[in-house]
Amino acid sequence: MRIEADVAVIGAGIAGVSVAAELAGDHAVVLLEQESQPAYHTTGRSAAMFLESYGGPPVRALTVASRAVFDAAGPLLTPRPLLWVAPPAQFDRLEALAGSALIPVDAAEHCPVLRPGWCAAALLEPGALEIDVLGLHQHYLGSCRRSGAEIFLNAAVRGGRRDGDRWLLDTAAGPVSAAVVVNAAGAWADRVAAALGAPPLGLRPLRRTAAVARATGVDRSWPIVADVGETFYFRPEGAGVLVSPADETPSEPCDARADDLDVALALDRVNRATTLGLRSVQTAWAGLRTFAPDRIPVAGPDPAAPGLWWIAGQGGYGIQIAPELARVTAASVRGEAVPEALSVARFTGR
Ligand SMILES: Cc1cc2nc3c(=O)[nH]c(=O)nc-3n(C[C@H](O)[C@H](O)[C@H](O)COP(=O)(O)OP(=O)(O)OC[C@H]3O[C@@H](n4cnc5c(N)ncnc54)[C@H](O)[C@@H]3O)c2cc1C
Repeated sequence: MRIEADVAVIGAGIAGVSVAAELAGDHAVVLLEQESQPAYHTTGRSAAMFLESYGGPPVRALTVASRAVFDAAGPLLTPRPLLWVAPPAQFDRLEALAGSALIPVDAAEHCPVLRPGWCAAALLEPGALEIDVLGLHQHYLGSCRRSGAEIFLNAAVRGGRRDGDRWLLDTAAGPVSAAVVVNAAGAWADRVAAALGAPPLGLRPLRRTAAVARATGVDRSWPIVADVGETFYFRPEGAGVLVSPADETPSEPCDARADDLDVALALDRVNRATTLGLRSVQTAWAGLRTFAPDRIPVAGPDPAAPGLWWIAGQGGYGIQIAPELARVTAASVRGEAVPEALSVARFTGR
């Protein structure tokens, strides 16, 4: 039997569920997810930070505009200041980062395990926050369900074509007919476009590794600590510390797995900068941060494919910008004007 909808959203990560929730109030929406559970890929694997100083101007604008949804949806944010640290050789990069949201501080006062000989200077972003990512995802899924959106798991979209002024999708859950298709397929978004006969954007999935290391003497009030050269970060996590080598390894779209060497690199870099003496890990994982060629998210209608919208290329900010990115994408599906500062639909990758 054919499923009929106004809008078919492909992918039930944070991008898909948020845009589906925005549209489900006044459209018949189907959400199609290839896995047996939503948020299985990048959304379930993030470092869960909300940083207003992160990314270029469009990303910062989207982050600031998203804050109200986090505050209204429940206690989804908890304070976790960010400490940017620099060894002597990276002092210039720290100076370039300095801005109104960042204040020079004595690093040892905020994280006493930093080696004084390694850390020459530090900047603190006091307003940084930790996100309850699954809480935000559940907020949007609940909103989808209450608005009557139909959610299909194990429903990979294998192909599709224009059928008059609608799309006819071939999915593992059966054929789906929809006036609008929203491509929220994360690392697979270019592949989904190709399956629909639309040109790709040149998206690049880059693998990032994270691990929770066993540690003693961790103070849960420490900030997240990141080196300004972006070669590692760490923060308290349970009784241990979450570490990452801030890697960006090109990857095919896949179920990403942590490489032992990347985990070892994270421990080594954190050990060089601190007296933590990390040796073993409790758990390690990896996810694909997917970027457009200019590293600015892409959200809007595809000029080369009628009825196809994108919400893709969110890179390392896809959780913190999700509310506003979904709102502007939904507004553009409705044909409403989107403020210039928040309009991020560009197809420069082609
Ligand atoms: C280690 C790490 C740390 C991060 N830290 C942060 C952070 O601190 N703050 C932040 O804001 N962001 C962070 N991010 C980035 C953030 O996690 C991503 O930007 C965001 O999760 C992307 O969401 P998405 O919905 O686009 O992708 P995904 O969550 O990957 O969702 C895409 C979905 O599409 C589905 N799909 C693909 N193809 C098909 C198909 N053919 N048919 C049906 N379904 C399909 C997939 O199964 C998947 O569920 C981090 C990422 C990583 C990996």
